[in-house]
Amino acid sequence: MQNHNEINAPVCPACGNDTLQKQIDALRGLIEVAKTVVSTLDLDTLLQAIMVSAMHYAETPAGSVALYESKKTELTLHAHRGLSAEFIKVERWCVNPGGLTEQILNSGEIFIVADTEKSPFFHNPVAIKEGIRSLICVPLVYQDDIVGILYLDDFIPRDFDRGKLELLSILASFAALAIHNARLHNKTKMMAITDFLTGLYNHRYFQQIFNQELGRARRYQKVMSLVILDIDNFKAFNDKYGHAVGDRILAAIGEIISRSLRKIDFAFRYGGEEFVIILPETSLEHAILTADRLRERIEQEASASLPEIQSSSITVSAGVACYPEDGTNREELFSLMDSYLYKAKSMGKNIVCHSTFPVS
Ligand code: GH3
Ligand code: MG
Ligand code: MG
Repeated sequence: MQNHNEINAPVCPACGNDTLQKQIDALRGLIEVAKTVVSTLDLDTLLQAIMVSAMHYAETPAGSVALYESKKTELTLHAHRGLSAEFIKVERWCVNPGGLTEQILNSGEIFIVADTEKSPFFHNPVAIKEGIRSLICVPLVYQDDIVGILYLDDFIPRDFDRGKLELLSILASFAALAIHNARLHNKTKMMAITDFLTGLYNHRYFQQIFNQELGRARRYQKVMSLVILDIDNFKAFNDKYGHAVGDRILAAIGEIISRSLRKIDFAFRYGGEEFVIILPETSLEHAILTADRLRERIEQEASASLPEIQSSSITVSAGVACYPEDGTNREELFSLMDSYLYKAKSMGKNIVCHSTFPVS
């Protein structure tokens, strides 16, 4: 059987040029991309392959792919080739009114700039400094939504071959499908580790992150703290105002917790009305301050955000434990933290207990 790589494509007999050969090469490129699309799960690897194939076909020395999030009205760079370190340093940018990106997003169609110096839409200072003089912008469209843009750049003004746009559109549809699939995959992954009611991470994910962060603290000889918060007299709130209001209290507390923490912290809805927080690289002293700040904020803000219960005060009790000074293994740390919570409840609630308070 003949290997398809060995096919000698006919040269056009009329003009002697190699148009046909180029078309065959392009289709081979397309087949290669299709193979990558079905075999690679990593989005950035896939976008890189699609972009390189498109650059090859359009014969441009540079290119990039940016993903678009309509909710955030910003683009993020995910693949690039042939561009300077200075250029790719800008990893995200906003859609500028009157700019090229806005033009593409509005039209949803391929946009060609033959000479950037003559284009009324081209005023991105980073791209100008880079010396980009012509480009093809291909919107990546999935079911009428633009999910990204493929840019194919050249450093000289030029007229691109419009006959190639159809195949570029096919490549773009592969990229759009890959982006959609990756987002779907991420969404499913997020749903598996988050609690629907509060938006915090769930109990199952706690086990994974606790292991991971404790392992990291041990390896790098860092401190790490744990905080548990439990709503005071929550059963009474449910009984008095109903379960639906109880759910809204949980959501309000989840929101206060997530907006009060650093980016590196993890907050979980551990059980019905219990929340656990992992504070990496945090000493006992700082963890106590964090827990007490949360306790105070919840007391001041939780019921105020719910009109039906504004007359009642919602409070939490908390226990804090720190690695390595309070304990060095999972079970020890967790049960110690839990015992401090129990202590806080027995001392009258709405307080934070830990190894230095109350002094035993
Ligand atoms: P304490 O101050 O000792 O913590 O008392 P408590 O009433 O908060 O604690 P208890 O363990 O007696 O009751 C917890 C309540 O939390 C009982 C349960 O109905 C409620 N709860 C658990 N999960 C949910 C939920 O998802 N939604 C609502 N609305 N209530 C929940
Ligand atoms: Mg409880
Ligand atoms: Mg409780």
